[in-house]
Amino acid sequence: MTNQVVRFRCDYCKKVLAITLSDDFCKKFKQEADKWPYPLVYPHNNHWAIIFLDEEFKERGVTASRIGFKE
Ligand SMILES: [Zn+2]
Repeated sequence: MTNQVVRFRCDYCKKVLAITLSDDFCKKFKQEADKWPYPLVYPHNNHWAIIFLDEEFKERGVTASRIGFKE
C-alpha cells in the first residue's frame, strides 16, 4: 500500500480538504477498524471532522462537530 490521500468537504471550513494518510497509519487503521465504513476523527481549527472510510480509504460520509466531551 502507499500513502492515501483522502478528500472530503468540511461543513465548517466550507471547502474540500485533503489529508494524506501514511502507509503505517493505513495499516494501523485497518487493524483497529472492526466495521466498515469506519470513522476517522480529524481535529483541525476549532472543530473535528468525522470521516467515514471504507477499506479502500474512500470517503463514505462526513460530518463535523465543534463539541467534544471527555470525563
Ligand atoms: Zn473544518
